[in-house]
Amino acid sequence: METLALFLCNFNILRNTIIVGYGLAGYHYAKVLEDYGKEFLIISDDKLGASRNAGGILNPTIIKRFTLSWNSIEFYRKALLKYKKHEKDYGNKIFHTLPIHNYFNKISDNNNWSIASNKKDLNRFFSKITNNRNEKNIKADYGYGIVTNVGRVEIIKMLDIFKSQLDSNSLLSEPFDYNKLIINKDYIDYKGIKASKIIFCEGFGLKNNPWFSYLPLIGSKGEFIHIRTKNLSPEAIIKGGLFIVPIEKEIFWVGATFDRKDKTDNITKSAKEWILKKLHERLNCSFEVVHQGTGMRPTVIDRRPLLGVHPLEKRLFVFNGLGARGLLMGPLLAELLYQFIEENKELPTSVTIDRFQSYFSNSFK
Ligand SMILES: Cc1cc2nc3c(=O)[nH]c(=O)nc-3n(C[C@H](O)[C@H](O)[C@H](O)COP(=O)(O)OP(=O)(O)OC[C@H]3O[C@@H](n4cnc5c(N)ncnc54)[C@H](O)[C@@H]3O)c2cc1C
Repeated sequence: METLALFLCNFNILRNTIIVGYGLAGYHYAKVLEDYGKEFLIISDDKLGASRNAGGILNPTIIKRFTLSWNSIEFYRKALLKYKKHEKDYGNKIFHTLPIHNYFNKISDNNNWSIASNKKDLNRFFSKITNNRNEKNIKADYGYGIVTNVGRVEIIKMLDIFKSQLDSNSLLSEPFDYNKLIINKDYIDYKGIKASKIIFCEGFGLKNNPWFSYLPLIGSKGEFIHIRTKNLSPEAIIKGGLFIVPIEKEIFWVGATFDRKDKTDNITKSAKEWILKKLHERLNCSFEVVHQGTGMRPTVIDRRPLLGVHPLEKRLFVFNGLGARGLLMGPLLAELLYQFIEENKELPTSVTIDRFQSYFSNSFK
């Protein structure tokens, strides 16, 4: 009886926020709310999403273009702080500093690397060139450049550690039923659970959201494999056609494809063949394929994130569009969204969904 009373009482709490979806976006927003001492409830289904299929690379550069990615230094600073804070809070290592060895495909890559590594900011990451062409197990006809101050985040471990601290008042593991959301003037009500607002952090699931599906989220499918081999070092991420990332003892994540047409979550024979072809072009050693997987990157038509409030329903918010760089951008964007919602600060024009206002108006025509 006492338990039932407590249960009912908890349902009557007016929470600050309901978060729908628990990938990197949902995680980072929940962490910000926790930092500010706000009550939240996460509702998420048990699908892996993009986050649990990702390679886990934290890298502010675009290696193949010899440049930094958009706004990357700001994103990078915040991201490092957040992942280190997570490690401190939970006493668990999740961020591993690992260099990326970028194997050159032609002699001009070598030259472009040298130019890039002398540029401001980029020089923190693009470091020396190795001209050793006799690498064991890896074809290195043109040498390789080393990217430093980058690494790998154990995303699944990070998400699971935080999730394991949440009780049933803070986490519901089920698909969100849009029909059950009642929007009142002063609060929202979901199956009797009341909150001041709701943030949709659904990744590509946003396509099914009746309020935000007007946004131009494209989605870019990425397929990858895991290989087992004793022949590669766990001390570096390899980039050579694709990424080879050490994830466990003798296990490497290898990927990924980039496909904007196929919106299914099926693994395909053609993707596996493409990955294997690339691997054989780069490696001189044996390996065994132990897994194939896929995820949908939440990419946007203009390659920028989607943050903001619904044009009509002012208690409904969205945090999406992390694209191929959720680890890098998630922490700072979560903070910016919080400041927008709770402190009335404006969102940068490049990330606000206001830039797609005409898509919303057109959906009524
Ligand atoms: C193959 C691949 C490799 C990648 N590699 C990297 C990398 O190395 N580094 C990097 O920074 N980024 C990488 N990314 C990109 C990164 O994974 C994404 O930017 C990020 O994971 C997006 O996070 P998200 O929370 O927006 O979406 P998701 O991770 O997809 O999370 C959304 C969650 O919400 C759930 N959900 C959706 N709708 C509902 C609903 N209605 N009810 C309940 N639950 C719902 C979903 O099931 C999912 O669990 C990669 C992506 C892919 C596919």
